[in-house]
Amino acid sequence: MRSSSLVAASLTAFALSALSLEAQAPQHPLDGLSGREHWTVYNALVASGRTDTTTSFLYVGLHEPSKSEVLSWKHGGPLKREALVHLTTGKSGYEAIVDITGNRVMSWTAGSEFDLVVANGRVVDPETKLDGIRSVGIRNGRIETISSTPLRGRIVLDATGLVVAPGFIDLHAHGQDLPAARMQAFDGVTTALDLESGTLPIAAAYAHIAKEGRPINYGFSASWLYARIAEKEGMEPTGAITFFQEAQRRKGWQFTLASPEETERIIARVERGLDEGALGIGVLAGYAPGYGRKEAFAVAQLAARTGVPAFTHVRYQSMIEPQSSFESMSEVVSLAAGTGAHMHISHLNSMSLRDIPRIGEMLRGAQARSLRITTEAYPYGAGSTVVGAELFRGNWRERLGGAVAGDIELGGVPFSDSTLAEAQAKSPGAWVIAHFLQPERTVADQDYLDQSVLFPGGAIASDGLPWTLRGQPLTGDVWPLPDDALAHPRSAGTFTRFLRDYVRERRKETLIDGLRRMTLIPAQILEGSVPQMKQKGRVQAGADADLVVFDLATVSERGTYTHPNRTAAGMRHVIVGGTPIIRDGVLVRDALPGQAIRRQGATRD
Ligand SMILES: [Zn+2]
Repeated sequence: MRSSSLVAASLTAFALSALSLEAQAPQHPLDGLSGREHWTVYNALVASGRTDTTTSFLYVGLHEPSKSEVLSWKHGGPLKREALVHLTTGKSGYEAIVDITGNRVMSWTAGSEFDLVVANGRVVDPETKLDGIRSVGIRNGRIETISSTPLRGRIVLDATGLVVAPGFIDLHAHGQDLPAARMQAFDGVTTALDLESGTLPIAAAYAHIAKEGRPINYGFSASWLYARIAEKEGMEPTGAITFFQEAQRRKGWQFTLASPEETERIIARVERGLDEGALGIGVLAGYAPGYGRKEAFAVAQLAARTGVPAFTHVRYQSMIEPQSSFESMSEVVSLAAGTGAHMHISHLNSMSLRDIPRIGEMLRGAQARSLRITTEAYPYGAGSTVVGAELFRGNWRERLGGAVAGDIELGGVPFSDSTLAEAQAKSPGAWVIAHFLQPERTVADQDYLDQSVLFPGGAIASDGLPWTLRGQPLTGDVWPLPDDALAHPRSAGTFTRFLRDYVRERRKETLIDGLRRMTLIPAQILEGSVPQMKQKGRVQAGADADLVVFDLATVSERGTYTHPNRTAAGMRHVIVGGTPIIRDGVLVRDALPGQAIRRQGATRD
């Protein structure tokens, strides 16, 4: 502000002073307001209906133009003159910006009050390493200030004794519907993205969610597998996960090679998804393990060319060579090396089984040689998939390291050899839970799981599935979920379980390092290709106001394999884009501030 006047005056005095000033156009864009301009500002404010007889003007001055505007003016360009006004009406303070040229009020904000203040919490930001008692001031969906002194807000949420952290970012969330999003909100998730599978068509999937509304942010990758099924089976993808379940009844896409022409069409379908704003390429390799090496190479080349990650569920899950987990990880390493693509390995825990020491060595070696390979894991010994998956065919018991049918369960009931075969034939698309590791039973398995979950630089991601009710998808505005709704408990407890088990109880990681895996690391995995993510995963001025406020002493998952349908405990407030979606531990049911996370520069629908 170069030239300004501080005026404490009543409305009348302001008008009189404006009248008495010489009405002359300023010569320089940084010159203060003329008398005529004061008068225009006053008229615009009165016409806006915001002022009344109690209004006092505290400050009226030039809203300083940007450097580029001044430069453009110097070269003969136009200049839009704006005024900055601070005033009080009644007991409230406001800040207005008035477009003098256009004679209108452009913005009007509660000048000295924030929209929302999260007061006196232990603010933890993994990027700046801030860990201290602060108040967070939020305006227009963004964090505006982080302050050691008290802040005034229209809404103030007390965070005394609680941790204030960036909202958790889940890179692997298949449950892209309202019930799943709400369960995840209680787990502290403010952004849930389906990147490992992804979907097609992309524009339709985004449009569907935008219409329904979401409490948390959402997004998709473009699915290579959906493109492959479409080409091999002539089934058109619908943008819904039920397409994948239905495809389990067909047998033409899992083990067939794609001809060069088919490969081209598969790539074209994926690329179209990227053009429509998908966040990367979803590569569910393990569900079609018969694809060719050249097809995989073409997919990785597309990822490299478009600068997006390839989120990969690797080809094999087995302790035994050939066709082992180790071999699959080598394939990922070779694709990263041969194309320069950013390859992301989904659920390192369930894919590595008990081979994580050797697999970890290989991945660390590749990373040390500057290959762009990232990982994620979830803190459970069991996974979940469709019962008809290739994973449970052939000599699968041996390949999974001595598994039995009873390690797989449906709705809490373990299979026998005969009931498993029956389910595979009759309902291959049914979701089941499979115990790959038994951390509850053996120390060794807990150690294998820990090595995956605590892999250096790895993210925590849930692989959360949609909820089902008596075998049918549970979607729509249902809350709370019916008692007999089912999913893997990771759909409701991945992040809070990690905080309870790895941070609070077993102290495997400090709070700030644990939070880093759930906030900054996932944001950084995406931000190279998705600029929106630079504003997420941080508690910093200018960042999106996606925040969790939780009690570290009680935060915990509550769902179990037999009773998954329990919201996690400990989240006092969960905020998305400045709007509380959980307040005092209760879901704000009509709050749907979730935004699409979508790649910029892409062609839209
Ligand atoms: Zn998977």
